[in-house]
Amino acid sequence: VQRDYDVIVIGGGIAGLSAALSAASDGGNVLLVEAAKSLGGSSALSTGVLYAAGTSVQRKIGIEDNADAMFHYAMTLNAYVAQPSLIRTLCDGSADAIEWLMSFGVIFRPEALYVAGVDTVPRGHRANNNGKEIVDALDQAASVAGVNHAFDTRVRKLVKDDGGRIIGIQFDGEVVTASSVVLATGGFGNNSEMLARYYPEAASSEGLWYVGTPFARGDGLSMGMEVGAELGGYNTGLVEVTPGLVKELDSYLPGWLIHVNRDGRRFVRETGAYAIMSGAVQAQVGGEAFAIFDEAARADAKVIVTYKPLAPSWTADQLSVFIKEGKIVQGDSLKELADKIGVRSETLETTVKKYNEDCDQGSDSAFFKDSKYLKKISTPPFYARRLRPGTVIVTATGLRIDTSARVLDAADRPIPGLYAAGETTCVLPRRYMAGGASLTNNVVFGKIAGTRALDDVPEAA
Ligand SMILES: Cc1cc2nc3c(=O)[nH]c(=O)nc-3n(C[C@H](O)[C@H](O)[C@H](O)COP(=O)(O)OP(=O)(O)OC[C@H]3O[C@@H](n4cnc5c(N)ncnc54)[C@H](O)[C@@H]3O)c2cc1C
Repeated sequence: VQRDYDVIVIGGGIAGLSAALSAASDGGNVLLVEAAKSLGGSSALSTGVLYAAGTSVQRKIGIEDNADAMFHYAMTLNAYVAQPSLIRTLCDGSADAIEWLMSFGVIFRPEALYVAGVDTVPRGHRANNNGKEIVDALDQAASVAGVNHAFDTRVRKLVKDDGGRIIGIQFDGEVVTASSVVLATGGFGNNSEMLARYYPEAASSEGLWYVGTPFARGDGLSMGMEVGAELGGYNTGLVEVTPGLVKELDSYLPGWLIHVNRDGRRFVRETGAYAIMSGAVQAQVGGEAFAIFDEAARADAKVIVTYKPLAPSWTADQLSVFIKEGKIVQGDSLKELADKIGVRSETLETTVKKYNEDCDQGSDSAFFKDSKYLKKISTPPFYARRLRPGTVIVTATGLRIDTSARVLDAADRPIPGLYAAGETTCVLPRRYMAGGASLTNNVVFGKIAGTRALDDVPEAA
């Protein structure tokens, strides 16, 4: 049968670009269809971090690491509630993903490596100029490899033949055929109905805010389900804790805050990786916590710049505005503050007394926060702001795939001709393993999907 293309890839983020590029590099005639007017999706908005083990970047500064250690960490963090074969594939392919991107000109500087999870090995590989740099490099390579593009084209329907094989896509009443189709439409952060159904933990947050592309409407999930695919990974993704003071990505709040629960107790090291922070807050009564600080900390607050400004609204002047507006609660004593926010005051007083003693000693005896963050909470007035998991970064309920990126039906049979990669799938486990996990997932499974999709092209007679 003559088809229009060998492979059609739906969605031009890093997962779709990786699939399109690998299929085209292997000689395929590829069409990449994108709903937006330009490529990139959430990938282009991202910080551009990939989580990977055993790379040449690590070796350059003497870091010994390997995929086994990464696999062990990811599985342990998730108490083995994860799909081992997919996690194994992700970890095994992670170093190659970095080398592959570097071969297209993406720069990962060894000095920029950092510990991106609650592990000890620096595996966070930060692209020089965030996710857009990766998108641009892949786009350029895809053009050289001859990938065809269609923009401004939101695909809503797959076409099946009588034998149940996916043979193309349909849009605006037009059918375009291919030997196989790759779904790479990203997540569903911008679809409130899907969030409520598949990610209720995120959807229940007041001040819920999705930071990714508006095109993340879950189309890949819907199209897959319409042809018999089943979803996995209920209530899974990455939602970050936020004070919700402004609409900005504030994944790292100032380290001098203490976070207490309604009982008035600290419950987590406040500077913990975001991989675990939202789970820690969610586990508290009411799924909330309060950031507590004093007037001395307010007066001294300034933006901390690392690779980018962190929590830019936590400056002395801006905090005064929030206090005046009542967004930050004020009390002349800890008791008054605690009563106003509904926290047990006697316990809060003990917590702060003990924390202040630790500050005097120069070491956090309870949660082992780095001593550079320790600041006594002793100058009235005292302040509090409620924290909740509310910023949705990644959704990871998605299509079930196997290690060849083939989309599975409810009986775990591959749907012929259908592949998927990236946020559209449910590879990532419940505990987001570390910063960079999603982009690594994109590249690893995008590459596999592209290569395997091309295998479906019948040999020329
Ligand atoms: C601010 C921010 C920072 C982040 N930082 C990081 C980070 O540093 N590291 C990390 O690992 N993760 C990070 N993430 C998460 C990560 O960026 C995403 O999970 C990932 O980029 C998703 O890639 P994708 O290719 O699956 O989807 P996307 O990049 O969203 O691409 C999907 C594409 O499909 C298109 N599309 C959707 N529906 C259709 C349709 N029906 N027809 C045609 N096209 C369609 C979309 O327009 C989009 O271009 C971050 C996310 C955000 C928002």
